[in-house]
Amino acid sequence: MGNLVAIVGRPNVGKSTLFNRLTKTRRAIVQETSGVTRDRHYGKSVWGGKEFSVVDTGGFVKGSDDVFEDEIRKQVVIAIEECNIVIFVVDVETGITDLDEAVANVLRQSKKPVFVVSNKVDNNEREVDSYEFYNFGLGDVYSISAINGSGTGELLDDLIKELPEDAHEEDESELPRIAIVGKPNVGKSSLTNALLGIERNIVTDISGTTRDSIDTHFNAFGFDMVLVDTAGIRKKGKVHEDIEFYSVMRSIRTIENSDVCLFMIDAEEGLQSQDMSIFSVIERNRKGMVVLVNKWDKIENKEANTMKKYEEMIKERLAPFTDVPVLFVSALTKQRIHKALEIAMEVYKNRTTKIPTSKLNEVLLPLIENYPPPAYKGKFIKIKFVTQLPNHAPAFAFFCNLPQYIKDPYKRYLENQLRKHFDLTGVPIRLFFRKK
Ligand code: GDP
Ligand code: GDP
Repeated sequence: MGNLVAIVGRPNVGKSTLFNRLTKTRRAIVQETSGVTRDRHYGKSVWGGKEFSVVDTGGFVKGSDDVFEDEIRKQVVIAIEECNIVIFVVDVETGITDLDEAVANVLRQSKKPVFVVSNKVDNNEREVDSYEFYNFGLGDVYSISAINGSGTGELLDDLIKELPEDAHEEDESELPRIAIVGKPNVGKSSLTNALLGIERNIVTDISGTTRDSIDTHFNAFGFDMVLVDTAGIRKKGKVHEDIEFYSVMRSIRTIENSDVCLFMIDAEEGLQSQDMSIFSVIERNRKGMVVLVNKWDKIENKEANTMKKYEEMIKERLAPFTDVPVLFVSALTKQRIHKALEIAMEVYKNRTTKIPTSKLNEVLLPLIENYPPPAYKGKFIKIKFVTQLPNHAPAFAFFCNLPQYIKDPYKRYLENQLRKHFDLTGVPIRLFFRKK
């Protein structure tokens, strides 16, 4: 069901500092070719072998100086509903404020685990001041310093105990899981209804038990797939509809539960910042992706090259992840909506195929020999062989004598060659360089 951790609290207690500490990429170990876009409010963290997502709610409150208590309270309600774990950050320098109290009042009603974190405990003397926060009645208080990192290890040790053993292991014997995602009003419900409305009697709810995530088995017109979280999308007049934080939260959940995302954007608006955040969540989770430019019916005076120009404009923004299908659709007139599913299935196939090692080496080694990695500090770099790793999303290991000297431009060259010679369209891939 996804492992989502939300950081809540009033402004200036250190939420974003903690967020940065938890989501700091460990660049020394993992070198990703794609994945350059960085989101300030959403990131991945690994501790004790468990991976989870972290959301900093702070970025979603507008005007940090005069924040309305009401707005923060709403956020906390959403965080409780949509996340698995909540981290409640307070500031040991200021002690308990009215706004802290307001947050605590909401959290006391939560059935989800809440971790009270006393931040800015930069030295031992301040440790005793943290005891004040036991007055919230929310259980243990973790004293940390988000700035220097002390105490965060203990916090994470306890936090991961609350995460499920294996959160949504992708199982290849399951049906492809396709998600329709995009910012509010882009046409998600319209598309969902257009697809599902086509033939009602072939649609069955898979799990009607949880209110939040009802998936639909879509089995028609030669498609056999699961549409993820259709109920959440179809349900109109949602309580929190207007809150950006809510829609971001929902898309994170939906994306994490899918294999391939139909990423909808509004033809008249193009890619805006909210679209870019959604894109970065898809990419960071290494999900397959098809871009759907919706409301194409509204674009007037289309010329022969309108689509081509539009597509180029989109890809410029998505760079370096540009090997992505872009379709121009209309949920209203149903133009190309089946094509969208067809392409989603192709991307699913690309994401799950395993390229035999012999084939990889047969194609790549001659290319590498013709255009080897540039020597570094007078040392020659030799890539000896390539193999695909048994991961869910495509990942490739290049074995070489001096992996640390292979630089980004050469990695991009290798990624481009992989994409050119094998079907990886719509799929973020990872390259690893290992010593051999
Ligand atoms: P947010 O508004 O809750 O996201 O708070 P920020 O992360 O932006 O931090 C607010 C201020 O507190 C910044 O000036 C940080 O440098 C400072 N701060 C954050 N964590 C610590 C800490 O552990 N110790 C100290 N002394 N200052 C901190
Ligand atoms: P959601 O919030 O992403 O689920 O968006 P909706 O499906 O509720 O659509 C928002 C508005 O855009 C509604 O008024 C729809 O009728 C309209 N809309 C959705 N898709 C299209 C389309 O392809 N063309 C046009 N012209 N309008 C559309």
